[in-house]
Amino acid sequence: MDLIDTLPPVRGALTAQARLSDRSWFGVGGPAEVLFLPADVEDLQSFLANLAPDVPVMVLGRGSNMLIRDGGVKGVVIKLEGPGFEAITVEGNRITAGAGAADLSVAIAARKAGIDGMTFLVGVPGTIGGALRMNAGIGPGKEMRNALVAATAVNRQGEKRRFALDELAYSYRHCDLGPEWIFVEAELAGPFGDKEAIAAAMKDHQDYRRKNQPINKKTGGSTFKNPEGHSAWRLVDEAGGRGYRVGGASMSELHCNFMINDGSATAADLETLGETMRAKVKATSGIELQWEIKRIGEPV
Ligand SMILES: Cc1cc2nc3c(=O)[nH]c(=O)nc-3n(C[C@H](O)[C@H](O)[C@H](O)COP(=O)(O)OP(=O)(O)OC[C@H]3O[C@@H](n4cnc5c(N)ncnc54)[C@H](O)[C@@H]3O)c2cc1C
Repeated sequence: MDLIDTLPPVRGALTAQARLSDRSWFGVGGPAEVLFLPADVEDLQSFLANLAPDVPVMVLGRGSNMLIRDGGVKGVVIKLEGPGFEAITVEGNRITAGAGAADLSVAIAARKAGIDGMTFLVGVPGTIGGALRMNAGIGPGKEMRNALVAATAVNRQGEKRRFALDELAYSYRHCDLGPEWIFVEAELAGPFGDKEAIAAAMKDHQDYRRKNQPINKKTGGSTFKNPEGHSAWRLVDEAGGRGYRVGGASMSELHCNFMINDGSATAADLETLGETMRAKVKATSGIELQWEIKRIGEPV
């Protein structure tokens, strides 16, 4: 029997062998055995509560920090999208955003309300759920944890819980909450500021990105985390990585911690490229780079 025939009833949509490559920035990867688009948080909770415990589950945001392998993903891939997950509400200096909301939309809502401290979200092309998991940001003091008050998540048993910021034990590109928790909402707050100054800061972030990052290519953002006291891009550059190519995958000439799919790359090309860079950097500097990009699924 196919997995989809064994799953609990839902109000949202279940699709077998669902294409994922067009749901990831790299544009590569095999299908999800089943893709689940819950209608709302309650639908997600009831699905998880009634799902057999041995079925693997993972959640996909905008796939902007993710490499989906060519063999696809076993089990259920959950994507939080649509009105049940993308609402953004503003009350005073506080913003509540569904995990499926685009970071950009939250930055715009903050600007309109004159709330400062969220301008960094303008340059992170993912969802609030992805930003909560990755502690997305553009530098010290400008990360998700700096704007976050609390986040609500649902676990593998379908239980919903609100976590205060300190319970999430954030560090650089890391949230300590176990992977069985799926974020459904974030509560953010910032100081009131001058709307024009906020808009100007957002424009500065965008101009910087256009100049320094290959934002119009099929990429996955920073490939490696910056090791303590080092820049990953510099280590890659010093190891001869800038422009280095494996099949249809290469390290960006513009920002050599970004991998690029020229349109013909497989996920295997991209992963081999990343591992080759790790080996080269280890050989030249002795430093072991850690992947920032999440690699999921099975090889072919
Ligand atoms: C051009 C470009 C520029 C970028 N610039 C930056 C930058 O400046 N700063 C930065 O920090 N990042 C940057 N990134 C990386 C990426 O945008 C961020 O990591 C972003 O937060 C990922 O969000 P996403 O929704 O795409 O998540 P995905 O890539 O889909 O997933 C990333 C991880 O988050 C998990 N996840 C997603 N949604 C949820 C949820 N609801 N609950 C629990 N876990 C979840 C996934 O399972 C996965 O482990 C960039 C990427 C690109 C392509």
